[in-house]
Amino acid sequence: MGRILITGGNGFIGTNFLAANHSKNTILNIDKESNFYGVSQDNVRWEKHDLGSLQSWVNIVEYFKPSHVIHFAAESHVDKSIDSPGLFVESNITGTYNLLQSALSYWRDLSLKEKERFRLIHVSTDEVYGSIQEGFHSEGSPYSPASPYAASKASSDHLVQAWHKTYGLPTIITHCTNNFGPYQHPEKLIPHMIFRALQGKTLPVYGSGKNIRNWLYVNDHIHAIKKIVEQGAIGQTYNIAGIEEKTNLEVVTRLCEILDQYVPHKQSYLDQIEFVSDRPGHDFRYGIDDSKLRSELGWRPLETFDTGLEKTIRWYLDYFKDNLHWLDQQAIERQGIYDA
Ligand code: NAD
Repeated sequence: MGRILITGGNGFIGTNFLAANHSKNTILNIDKESNFYGVSQDNVRWEKHDLGSLQSWVNIVEYFKPSHVIHFAAESHVDKSIDSPGLFVESNITGTYNLLQSALSYWRDLSLKEKERFRLIHVSTDEVYGSIQEGFHSEGSPYSPASPYAASKASSDHLVQAWHKTYGLPTIITHCTNNFGPYQHPEKLIPHMIFRALQGKTLPVYGSGKNIRNWLYVNDHIHAIKKIVEQGAIGQTYNIAGIEEKTNLEVVTRLCEILDQYVPHKQSYLDQIEFVSDRPGHDFRYGIDDSKLRSELGWRPLETFDTGLEKTIRWYLDYFKDNLHWLDQQAIERQGIYDA
């Protein structure tokens, strides 16, 4: 790629993107939080800025001179968006607006060759389409977001489309399903359950555990983003789906079975499962069709749910043996606070 400006590189997917930077692109990472897991490389620089309040990025962008921008930064926790929606408006909508304005001003002054090479990839979610009982949403499906998180992501998608259609900024939007893998915060379903299981706590499953999500191993998402950066068509949207749909109960059950194998206890971890009351507006199922990405760009996920989950669990077991100081015990204690 070249010189990449990424936003939100200290979060889950951004950290995995940085960890996979084998081709040694020069990267500037803008994130408002401190480096959570401390993935550091010589050719990656982190600057601490809040996109929502950063009205002019022009100096930062012009100084770094990116050939590509990958916009991961967002407030991303659905439950938090129900309690504090204003934060999501500020980061996800105003933050995206601020980024678009600065990118546009920078892009307009580039030479013709540089202009043609430049891309801004906006990383969005399948949640903008809303819940679907059966079947799949395609890229042309209407938006129907339910949570303040999904609504803020939907708004940011519309801004990105408008900046492309009105000003010609070369943008591409992606909609991905639920990711899992290393470096995910313990407020999210899979790490939340791993840590609670290992600490002998209950494993709180919302409602009857029948809510369905499509799961994708995070490196497969990153692989898709790289393909889209290199071969995606400007102004287009690409869905990125997982391979396997699972109910939340199936996810937690499989996770317990793998833990039973790696860290056996007297009783199975399955005995720690407990059903708790559901959260408001909990979407039943997300389903997206990613045949456009598969047929036009030849992308395929490399991991199954099982191989990805096993890798993820092994990573948490290895990593936290030596890095317990990264552990957010509060997020583990807050029973039932997880997305999915
Ligand atoms: P995350 O919450 O782990 O990371 C987001 C990062 O953005 C954090 O480091 C945070 O500090 C940063 N950030 C938030 N607001 C900011 C602001 N105003 N200024 C600067 N930095 C800010 O989330 P994630 O799971 O890594 O998700 C990354 C992106 O991918 C998000 O845009 C999300 O909507 C999208 N996405 C995530 C998933 C998933 O399953 N995790 C699925 C589809 C799409």
